[in-house]
Amino acid sequence: MSRSAILVRSAGGIERGFTIVVCRACKDPPCARVCPTEALSLRPGGGVLLIPSKCIGCGNCVSACDIGAVMWDYESMKPIICTHCGYCVGFCPHNVLGLEEV
Ligand code: SF4
Ligand code: SF4
Ligand code: SF4
Repeated sequence: MSRSAILVRSAGGIERGFTIVVCRACKDPPCARVCPTEALSLRPGGGVLLIPSKCIGCGNCVSACDIGAVMWDYESMKPIICTHCGYCVGFCPHNVLGLEEV
């Protein structure tokens, strides 16, 4: 999961279950507001799109996301931003993940 935009966090062992952290597609995204280079553009319908060529790797967006949905790519030293492709939805057998048309 080192280069994934989704995080599975343990709530304290198998018995207590797990929490899925994934971008909620904010309408007014804090991650974009703190970007000094406008490398995160507003995505129609919510969330952001990363423009890698503009990113200076400052990490502000990681700190700004309240739910911790901005992961970090230690190879490129840039954030990993969910593209809302919906690929993960198809792998959850319990329909926990969903993608809505906006
Ligand atoms: S790491 Fe990149 S995308 Fe994130 S706030 Fe800094 S410049 Fe913007
Ligand atoms: S990464 Fe976080 S702050 Fe940015 S749009 Fe997604 S949930 Fe909102
Ligand atoms: S919607 Fe796509 S980019 Fe976002 S967490 Fe799921 S698989 Fe990853």
